[in-house]
Amino acid sequence: MTLATLNDVLKPAEKNCSAIAGLVVLGWEDAIAFTEAAEEVGCPVILQAGPGSRRHTPLSVLGKMFTYLAERASVPVVCHLDHAHTFEECSEAIDCGFTSLMIDGSMLPLDDNIALTARVKGLAKPHKLSVEGEIGAVGYAGGAASAMTDPEEAARFERETGIDALAISIGNVHLQTEHAAMIDWTRLADIQSLTRAPLVLHGGSGIPPSVRRDLARETRVKKFNIGTELRLGFGNALRDYLATHPAEFDRLRILSAPIAPMKNIAMEIMRNLQA
Ligand SMILES: [Zn+2]
Repeated sequence: MTLATLNDVLKPAEKNCSAIAGLVVLGWEDAIAFTEAAEEVGCPVILQAGPGSRRHTPLSVLGKMFTYLAERASVPVVCHLDHAHTFEECSEAIDCGFTSLMIDGSMLPLDDNIALTARVKGLAKPHKLSVEGEIGAVGYAGGAASAMTDPEEAARFERETGIDALAISIGNVHLQTEHAAMIDWTRLADIQSLTRAPLVLHGGSGIPPSVRRDLARETRVKKFNIGTELRLGFGNALRDYLATHPAEFDRLRILSAPIAPMKNIAMEIMRNLQA
């Protein structure tokens, strides 16, 4: 039984100057690949069910999938709800076995974001589950613009919500297919000096691996959310397999083909974040 919370994995990462990968799971093949990758590297992993994944597969199915793998894994596995927007979604995730909740009130006015996040923290506390909140807003490539995190607001947000991990916006952007993010190190230093919780960067795919590594070693950024990089790997592997096996029609064989390539990408991501 290696079901873990964010606190279980981010606190040790802070001590040993590493960071943990929060990997976006879109299906069973991803979940197996990422869990096996973590076991082979010998590090924890955060399996994440985001809004897209939840539209495709019911939350209760994702919860069962994640907890099944966590209970059998040789390394800590965090079953994480990514980008919940309501208290009700968080409550449902607890019923479905998730050990960690991200409540995203980043698009709300600050007072409302604080109130919603504090309410979710109150919900999670008796269950000893972890909560990630977002302050500032991480935008989307080709979509919503970012609002950089204000260090003073981050301090107030942390103080008044009691969250376990703080997602911040310092140049990171969701859904980038190239390593195009420009990290604002000065803003990060200011946020670090006024807060204490482990920091989270969404849009990890857009951050060059060498920068991710420096952040993991030198700063309190202890969780990187990574999805696009793995989706690209899945798509490329699937295309290659179909091109070289034009007569193949068996769904199980077709969908098994990307598992090994995705596991390799995940292992590379994890090794890069190790101390
Ligand atoms: Zn995100």
